[in-house]
Amino acid sequence: RIFDIVPVLNAVLDAFTPIAGDHGVALRADLPATLPVTGDVFRIRQVLDNLVSNAIKYTPGGGIVRVSARLEIDEIVISIADTGIGIGSEDLGHVFDPLFRSARAQQQASGTGLGLGITRDIVTAHGGTLNLTSEIGHGTTVTVTLPRAEALE
Ligand code: ATP
Ligand code: MG
Repeated sequence: RIFDIVPVLNAVLDAFTPIAGDHGVALRADLPATLPVTGDVFRIRQVLDNLVSNAIKYTPGGGIVRVSARLEIDEIVISIADTGIGIGSEDLGHVFDPLFRSARAQQQASGTGLGLGITRDIVTAHGGTLNLTSEIGHGTTVTVTLPRAEALE
């Protein structure tokens, strides 16, 4: 099924705006008018909820979470960038492992350690990719690509 991911992104941003506000984290968006994707809108919503939730909960007050999306030649690129606690290089290889939570993450917020692995599995099932870059103390950027759809039906 083809759907427009921009209203989905806007719904996620609306849902998390009060939560970000409670954390003292600014939520910014840079989105085009429309971006057609092929897939399961509910699973993609789950992906975006998980990633925006992580970005906010691992960012101390005063930080910024930026959500952007753009169309490249044959794919949609979505980026969720935070200015939070970051992930050390020794932990980066484990963040997709079930139940893994870094020591810093455990100090910062609660969680199960399941979200990111499930999130990457959903993206991979859609023919996309999920990559994470991070610098401890500076922040984390998660980049998701999804195959673009030809047009909205
Ligand atoms: P939940 O399953 O409830 O989402 P969680 O957030 O701890 O719990 P994941 O989302 O799977 O679990 O993330 C796994 C670990 O990766 C986190 O515990 C944390 O150590 C690290 N992590 C994920 N996203 C970020 C981020 N944006 N900034 C810093 N660390 C992160
Ligand atoms: Mg999580």
